[in-house]
Amino acid sequence: MTDSAHHEGGCLCGAVRYHGQLAPDQTATHCFCRMCRKANGGVFVTWVALSSASFSFSHGDPHRFRSSDLAERSFCGTCGGALTFHSIGDPKGPPGVIWAALGSLDRPEEIVPTHHIFAADKPAWLELDDNLPRYPSQLPWIRTQDELARPTVSNDDPVPVSSGKDDTLEGGCLCGAIHYHAIRKSSPPATTCHCSICRKTTGATLFGSADFTVADVTFTGGQPRRYRSSGKAERAFCGTCGCHLTFRFVDDPGDGLSLTIGSMDRPEAIRPTVQLFVADGLPWLRLKGDMTDWPQGRQANTAAQGESPTS
Ligand SMILES: [Zn+2]
Ligand SMILES: [Zn+2]
Ligand SMILES: [Zn+2]
Repeated sequence: MTDSAHHEGGCLCGAVRYHGQLAPDQTATHCFCRMCRKANGGVFVTWVALSSASFSFSHGDPHRFRSSDLAERSFCGTCGGALTFHSIGDPKGPPGVIWAALGSLDRPEEIVPTHHIFAADKPAWLELDDNLPRYPSQLPWIRTQDELARPTVSNDDPVPVSSGKDDTLEGGCLCGAIHYHAIRKSSPPATTCHCSICRKTTGATLFGSADFTVADVTFTGGQPRRYRSSGKAERAFCGTCGCHLTFRFVDDPGDGLSLTIGSMDRPEAIRPTVQLFVADGLPWLRLKGDMTDWPQGRQANTAAQGESPTS
């Protein structure tokens, strides 16, 4: 192993840190499945294979969430940052591998992605400009669609068609503890964000959100945990499963509240038109389609402005 195979990572707040070596085959899969979206609130997550023999948490204890009979995920209980995915009791899970969320790595730009998985679950507006092999579900040498185990969490059932009325937008976290519905008067402004704060707070490779006001959004079920990700912004996530749900500027006079794309039941119902902080983006992450690129956040003080990674 060379030094470049050694990676360290952790969450934004620094409460949990880990290190490990890239697995020998250096697999790194962009996953577009609903469970991964709902487990962290990002647009999509990239799982980087680390050898489990080399892996350990070097600081702090993550929260663990059993997202199905076959897998356990870990995240920071303070800031909500997704950290790892580990096959447990899965005879077909790749042996000796623990998957790290790329957004949690300290040097994510050094990872070379290898595949797209669960590409069939992706909203149509999300198309990456690359030539990587795309699989509709899991990597075929791990399991076919028919073999995919039924998750134990009840809200991973297919989304009912009735949840997508034109005048409301519904969403919630993976474990089902927190649900919301938002009044949608028109197409809400929506952005993707490539900044390092969004990556480290969610573990996702790409973050995105759509803008509402506090009065538009009603939460049912439990209350999310809140985390001040900078002097300017507060985020909220589920303390049980780690899903990031909201983003807001603490000094926003307009009472803005942005809902994360990953937590939405139907992310295809919104359409991001702006990419923020593309200057901080990963070198291989280019989206197809018509989007306005902002090298940093917006100058105007809107809820989609974005945090400066240096603030
Ligand atoms: Zn943290
Ligand atoms: Zn949850
Ligand atoms: Zn961001």
